[in-house]
Amino acid sequence: MTENNNRNGEVWVFAEQEEGVLADVPRELLGKGRELADRLGVKLAAVLMGDGVESLASGLFEAGADVVHLADDPALKTFRGVAYRKAFVKMVRECRPQIAIFGATHMGRDLAPAVASELRCGLTADCTDLQIGDWTDQKRKDASGNGTVVKDVLLQIRPAFGGNIIATIVNPYNWPQMATVREGVMKKLDPRPGAKGEIVRHDAGLGGEDLPVEVVEIVRRHSSVNLKGARIIVAGGAGVGSQENFKLLHELADALGGAVGGSRAAVDLGYCEHERQIGQTGVTVRPALFISCGISGAVQHLAGMQDSAKIVAINTDRDAPIFKVAHYGIVGDLNIVVPKLIKAVKKGW
Ligand SMILES: Cc1cc2nc3c(=O)[nH]c(=O)nc-3n(C[C@H](O)[C@H](O)[C@H](O)COP(=O)(O)OP(=O)(O)OC[C@H]3O[C@@H](n4cnc5c(N)ncnc54)[C@H](O)[C@@H]3O)c2cc1C
Repeated sequence: MTENNNRNGEVWVFAEQEEGVLADVPRELLGKGRELADRLGVKLAAVLMGDGVESLASGLFEAGADVVHLADDPALKTFRGVAYRKAFVKMVRECRPQIAIFGATHMGRDLAPAVASELRCGLTADCTDLQIGDWTDQKRKDASGNGTVVKDVLLQIRPAFGGNIIATIVNPYNWPQMATVREGVMKKLDPRPGAKGEIVRHDAGLGGEDLPVEVVEIVRRHSSVNLKGARIIVAGGAGVGSQENFKLLHELADALGGAVGGSRAAVDLGYCEHERQIGQTGVTVRPALFISCGISGAVQHLAGMQDSAKIVAINTDRDAPIFKVAHYGIVGDLNIVVPKLIKAVKKGW
C-alpha cells in the first residue's frame, strides 16, 4: 500500500451528461457506489462536469450521492477528451478518492483510460460486478512467510478469455481504483425525493491550450430501438433461420407491446441490426419478460439477459444451455411455436 492510497477517500461516480440531460448510467452506478461506500464507511460522490449543469445535482442526490463535485465551465459544455481529462485529474489530485467508476459508454470509454493513464493507476473495463474485499499479495511475504493481506480493496469482476472465466482484478497499490461498467448492469436505487447533499465547486483550471479541438456541429443518429426500456423482449438467434423469419418475432413483440432483440449470431448472419444485440458485447437487459427463440444460451449471451424477471425459452435442442436460466422452456420448433403464441396473444391468451 503506498501512502498515496487514501483510506478515507470517497467513492466517485462519473455523472455523465449531455446537453444538460443526465444519462441513465450514473444513476445505476450510484446504486452500486452506495453499497461500496457504505461498506467502506466513506462518502459517495458524483463528479458532474459541464456548462450550466448545477441543477442536475439534485437528481444525483436523489439517486444516492452524498456529495457532488461540480466543475462548471463553458469549456466543458460538450465532451472533449483533453478538457474533461484535465478537469477530472485535477479534482482527483485535490480530493484523492479511493474509487472512481465510469459508465462504459462512448464518453466513459474515452475519459476513463485517459484519466487512468495520466494518474498511472490502472483501469478495469466492462466490469459486471464490483465488491469490496481483502486480497492477499503472495509476492510480499511477512516474517512468517505469509502473503500480505490488503484489506478492503475494490474487487473488479468481469468475464475474461472470451467469457470462459470470470476474473477478479484488483489494484491494491496505485489508487484511485478505477473501473468502467456497462449500461444496464447495475441496479438503480429507489429515488430519494428531495434528498439533499453537499456541492463542492471546483475550478476546472482549463486554458486555451486544453481545447485543441473545436466542436463545430454534433450530428446524431437516433436509434428507434430501445431495448433497455422495454418491459417485454422477444429475442431471436441463429435458429430463427433467416431475416424473413425474424418478422415472426416482430409480430409477436408487436402483439405483446415489446421490442425485438437478437443474439450475436443473429446479428452476424444479418437477421437483425447490431443495435439489437444482447449480451457481453451488446446491450444488457432486465425486462419483466424475455422470450428467447432459437438461441443456444452461450455465456456471452446470458451475460446480457439472465437477470430478466421471467425467461421463456423456445429451442429444438432440449440440452441447450438457455434452458438452465429459463423459468419456462418449450422444446420445439419456433416456426410452429411462435405463430401459436401470436395467435394466443391476439386472442387475449
Ligand atoms: C468475446 C465474445 C463476445 C461475445 N458477445 C456476444 C454477445 O454480446 N451476444 C451474443 O449473443 N453472443 C455473443 N458472443 C457469441 C456467443 O459465444 C455465441 O456464439 C452466440 O451467442 C450464439 O448465438 P445463437 O445462440 O443465436 O446461435 P447458436 O449457438 O448457433 O444457437 C442456435 C440455437 O437455435 C436452436 N434452433 C435451431 N433451429 C431451431 C428452430 N427451428 N426452433 C427453435 N430452436 C432452433 C439450436 O438448437 C441452437 O440452440 C460472443 C462471443 C465472444 C467470443
